[in-house]
Amino acid sequence: MSEKGNLSINSENILPIIKKWLYSDTDIFLRELVSNGCDAITKLQKLCELGEVENIDENEEYYVRVELNTSEKTIKIIDNGIGMTDEEIKKFINQIAFSGASAFIEQYKDKLGAENEIIGHFGLGFYSAFMVAEKVEINSLSYKEGSVATKWISDGGIEYEMDSSDKSTRGTEITLFVSEDSKEFLNEYKLTSILDKYCNFMPVNIYFKNVDNKKDEENKNEEKTPEKLEPINVTNPLWMKNPSDCTDDEYKEFYKSVFHDFNDPLFWIHLNMDYPFKLKGILYFPKLKNEYETIEGQVKLYCNQVFVADNVKEVIPEFLLLLKGTMDCPEIPLNVSRSFLQNDSNVAKMSSYISKKVADKLNSLFKKERESYCNYWKDISPFIKYGCIKEKSFYDKIKNSIIFKTTKDDFVTIEEYLEKNKDKIENKMFYVTDKQQQSQYIKMFEEQGIEAVILDTNLDNAFISYLESYETNIKFMRIDSDITNSLKDETTDTEGNEDLTNLFKENLEKEDIKIKIENLKSSSISAIILLDEQGRRMQEMSKMFGGMQGLNMPTNEELVINKNNDLVKTLLKLKDNESKKEDVKLICNQIYDLAMMSHKQLSNKEMNDFIERSNKILNILANA
Ligand code: ADP
Ligand code: MG
Repeated sequence: MSEKGNLSINSENILPIIKKWLYSDTDIFLRELVSNGCDAITKLQKLCELGEVENIDENEEYYVRVELNTSEKTIKIIDNGIGMTDEEIKKFINQIAFSGASAFIEQYKDKLGAENEIIGHFGLGFYSAFMVAEKVEINSLSYKEGSVATKWISDGGIEYEMDSSDKSTRGTEITLFVSEDSKEFLNEYKLTSILDKYCNFMPVNIYFKNVDNKKDEENKNEEKTPEKLEPINVTNPLWMKNPSDCTDDEYKEFYKSVFHDFNDPLFWIHLNMDYPFKLKGILYFPKLKNEYETIEGQVKLYCNQVFVADNVKEVIPEFLLLLKGTMDCPEIPLNVSRSFLQNDSNVAKMSSYISKKVADKLNSLFKKERESYCNYWKDISPFIKYGCIKEKSFYDKIKNSIIFKTTKDDFVTIEEYLEKNKDKIENKMFYVTDKQQQSQYIKMFEEQGIEAVILDTNLDNAFISYLESYETNIKFMRIDSDITNSLKDETTDTEGNEDLTNLFKENLEKEDIKIKIENLKSSSISAIILLDEQGRRMQEMSKMFGGMQGLNMPTNEELVINKNNDLVKTLLKLKDNESKKEDVKLICNQIYDLAMMSHKQLSNKEMNDFIERSNKILNILANA
């Protein structure tokens, strides 16, 4: 015979686990109790709508009030919601993990329609009170006609006492007798900052009051008119509104107040999704303060207007965390663990929905408002580049809207660049990392009508390697890594090449220097340095990741001598002239240094040598 039965849980054992493990952050006890108050009010409002309650004054203001009493060491959370009968306290409070919120939704599911604004879920929130309180008291009067007010008291949340009480107003008053360990919470600043963090958009007016009986008695005579309290929250956050009802000013205002930024955002995306999951939110593209600023985004996750956490990367694609925004996902329970989120298929769908919406917005800006898009590019490109590297599907959606700033201050896509320069270079995209340092090369390119794009951020090295791995028909080359054929003469004359090579080798006295002779169209240039693209990128990468620093990687620099340059031509003639030997040596070294200088910054020693030699040359000139 098989046996059936209910498992029983021993509350003495389970409560410490709830206290310790369920919530990693003690602060949330206040969120849980205030949200229970909000739920109690939402339920009452729903019942009014359904015509199940009648004896309520239409003008009554619904509220949740938090009262701190430092001298009595209590925190009270008071609401004028639905209240609880003694039966309901037994059912919903005494039975741990039995959720009155879920029971309510279940009971009214046919009548409530699609919107579910009830916050509660698991029936565990209330017990978070014991994280800070040694004793908790509930004093409640139900909305039901003829109800008797009930008091419930529990020390430590294991045993309870219940009795009738004399509470005469509808609603619930929870009193926390704060334990010695948690006395930090008996502080106005602490409580208001928790309220500000978790409750700033809850749907019911929330008030905070610092009440102190002793203080009150002292001030009794002075305080004749009670002060008018202001709610600490905004009950209708912008993201809950219909996007078509929001103005630009409202979006900007909301951004500034939530993110404490005094700059306007560049633009924003208002998400509003109902099926297959519910999601509302606003994502802002912030203006970066300066180009070196590390971008720190912030995406706040809410559940039915209750703050859950910042930057939950399981729900919001990681690269979108560089943006600023608020996201409300009612279907994500308040106190879920990260591993739960990782395995939830709706969460994954949400994440890809959000990233698709962002790509759509960017693509439409690029197509319809290209000029603004170009103006935004500096601020949005770090985010787009990072997004592409992080998420191939984002890259696939956005790739045709990736643009590059050119040395002529235009903006071009890869396709446009290739098309523009197709007669001069094939499937290569030349770029500069430092417009000033590389100005000689830029000049040489511009003389032949070729422009380069500017890639000067930390991310670019990784970004172009990423692009090359998917767009195999294109190679990115830094402007000093290669001389394209269109910079060279068509001549195939190689006469004197060997002599020149040897001349420089002998005079420069640099071991394993690579020398190449070319006929460059820009005859004013005597020599340039080329640096192998792949080798340089590798070196930069390893520098960025801090590794291999001690290692002396080969530099792969190559000295290219321009045989079309007059000075070089003269040098070639002087090569066998014994009396000019010293001068030739000076010139070779000077040419090398000049090429080096337009390639990178000289070291102190190199600079000293260069100046000394320059003076020597001038001296010779003066005495000639
Ligand atoms: P949940 O909110 O997830 O249902 P809680 O542990 O927070 O779980 O609360 C348990 C139940 O106790 C609630 O669902 C509700 O029925 C009842 N309750 C708690 N606080 C209040 C309150 N302030 N007013 C009315 N009912 C309450
Ligand atoms: Mg709750």
